[in-house]
Amino acid sequence: MEKSISLVLIVEDEESILFALEENVIHAGYEALTCKTGNEALELAEKHKPAAVILDVMLPGMSGFEVCRQLRSKQLMMPVIMLTARSEEFDKLHGFEVGADDYVTKPFSMDELLARLKAVLRRGRLQEQAGRQYAFSNVEIDLDSRTMKCGGVPVDLTRTEFDLLVYFIENEGKALSRDVVMNDVWGMEYYGTQRSLDSFVANLRKKIESDPHHPQHIQTVHGVGYKFSAG
Ligand code: CA
Repeated sequence: MEKSISLVLIVEDEESILFALEENVIHAGYEALTCKTGNEALELAEKHKPAAVILDVMLPGMSGFEVCRQLRSKQLMMPVIMLTARSEEFDKLHGFEVGADDYVTKPFSMDELLARLKAVLRRGRLQEQAGRQYAFSNVEIDLDSRTMKCGGVPVDLTRTEFDLLVYFIENEGKALSRDVVMNDVWGMEYYGTQRSLDSFVANLRKKIESDPHHPQHIQTVHGVGYKFSAG
């Protein structure tokens, strides 16, 4: 089987760390693309569609969190590993909320970072191989035709319900706050309330849960929002 070389985008404003990362990533058999600011990172990610991003949190101007959030809102779903300094009060949950896949704390060991990079790339490849379809319990979703079947029977979803369900699936296992869900699914132009998100979720549950009052898949996380489980 032919193995294509994965392109890794490295975003880090400290030159010595950027250089070390670039060298090690290339030495580990990947191609590397580097930049020092969030704006450049977003441009490069859109243009080159890297297989993974190594993203420093503390960047001049736009933070790594914001870069990650914007990648996801542009539907750039490649794995992101965040780099954070020990002195920073790194909010792990915040990193995961904006869509990061993993993180390492500075000063990090290059071996650990490379092991994590390899792991997220492997997971990314598994998702690609699965094609543009998702399946869990008796639900099948086809992203290309934007259709869903439940127990083999087609079920109508509104555009919003479909986007929301795919978003939940792609963030499986993460506790997602209502604000983050609304921002990621609808973007900045969304003026709805948290209550309207709850009503979309209630409708989705009726369509995918065997018992909508005791949901197995779209679970409520009290005080936070929701968490999806393929179950
Ligand atoms: Ca930095």
